[in-house]
Amino acid sequence: MLEKPKKKDLTLDPENWDAMRQLGHRMIDDLFDYWENIRNEKIWKPIPQEVKEFLDQPIPEKGQNPEDVYREFKQNIFPYNKGNVHPRFFAWIQGTGTPLGVLADLLASGMNPNVAIGEHSAMYVDRQVVNWCKELMNFPSEASGILVSGGSMANITALTVARNSFRDEKIRTQGLKAASAQLVLYCSTETHSCIQKAAEIIGLGTAAVRKIGVNDHFEMKVEELEFQIQGDIEAGLLPFCIVGTSGTVNTGAIDPMDELLAVSRKYGLWFHVDGAYGALARLDPKYADRLKAIEEADSLAFDLHKWLYVPYEVGCTLIRDAKKHRDSFALTPNYLIQESRGLSGGLDSINNHGFELSRGFKALKIWMSLKEHGREKYAQMIAQNNRQAEYLADLVNMSPDLELMAPVSMSITCFRMIKPGYTENQLGELNRGILLRLQEEGIASPSSTILNGKYTLRIANVNQRTQMGDMDLLVREVLRIGSEIQ
Ligand SMILES: *Cc1c(COP(=O)(O)O)cnc(C)c1O
Repeated sequence: MLEKPKKKDLTLDPENWDAMRQLGHRMIDDLFDYWENIRNEKIWKPIPQEVKEFLDQPIPEKGQNPEDVYREFKQNIFPYNKGNVHPRFFAWIQGTGTPLGVLADLLASGMNPNVAIGEHSAMYVDRQVVNWCKELMNFPSEASGILVSGGSMANITALTVARNSFRDEKIRTQGLKAASAQLVLYCSTETHSCIQKAAEIIGLGTAAVRKIGVNDHFEMKVEELEFQIQGDIEAGLLPFCIVGTSGTVNTGAIDPMDELLAVSRKYGLWFHVDGAYGALARLDPKYADRLKAIEEADSLAFDLHKWLYVPYEVGCTLIRDAKKHRDSFALTPNYLIQESRGLSGGLDSINNHGFELSRGFKALKIWMSLKEHGREKYAQMIAQNNRQAEYLADLVNMSPDLELMAPVSMSITCFRMIKPGYTENQLGELNRGILLRLQEEGIASPSSTILNGKYTLRIANVNQRTQMGDMDLLVREVLRIGSEIQ
């Protein structure tokens, strides 16, 4: 007879369930206190040297109790947050998250399904959310889609499909070397860097990315695009894809979608839209017309952790032609064979539509959030952010000491302070000083960019906590700090 070992079996579950449960309740309480009071807190604090040292220690050999670990979190990690949960966070393009979205993530982690394959509820939630994403973008119900970690991943997923399904070049099996000529991709000088990176990774190379110039609204010049395509065809190259951006990261500019669509049809090119930031602006009636052509795109990438305000990370790729999508990624090794019944039955493996195999239950936070608020509320929220950006621009235009640096598009406002007699260099230093002090004094977090060679403050707002009054406060503080800087 087999003798059972005397020692207790090891597990990572808590020794004391009650204590862990109480700790969990405390964490939830601390989070709710944080959210409820966030408006009165500084948006950002510099990280003290001792905290940086604390976070630079070798791996622990022995464990410590969970209460101590949590205490260390509260002392060293929680207070030095980035700040994008705060109502005056306007840097880059970063969403705020919502309480229910966070709780949904907790539930998703707790269930901990690997949402790749199998017959279980999360697969159906994931499918439903992808279908809702199609509805949000007015894509046909036969289109396909996949939730991924964010806009960058969503873009490269779409561009992989565009490449693999290009004519009958058999690129998936033979590689790019088998293509009859160099494939060429078109985007604008304002296109997000992830498009170039994607082109590099899928084997096109930087030299095959044509960055078309923009007009004074930072929108792609269609004539220049067509001229370039014709030139490339004459040179014996293979134009294959146009990437339009619906909401550039710099200024929120919208490339002329209808015209890009027409050009792509005329030359038989794949039309991809990078809507990571701005595709959801189609819910705002003011932008619905200009973004209508998105629904005709061959593929679309958009983020839900930006303008759907759900916690990180989640983005979505939609592909009009579901067969092309599946044909680009489907592969069934022996260990992933699907059955018609049981745990290995159910829906098509999600891995047949993307690169990643293991996937978390990121769909749940979207599912719960859309049910909590409904599409109409999101439309109102997005419109509110857009109106806040316009209001800020009005304040800028009313002040003789401020200058608007780009036309306001969607929810991005670019402006700077000006002083008579200052050179461009001095203006750059002045506004850099204003930006740094706004952050260091914990007031607000804009970021910066350079437009036409000029340093500018950039206020990008996908923040569900921002109020109109925050714009008044921001302008007041910019003027105060600017007048203090000599
Ligand atoms: C944010 C953004 C991206 C990148 O998306 P991530 O979610 O950060 O990976 C790409 N394009 C545009 C226009 C963006 O705004």
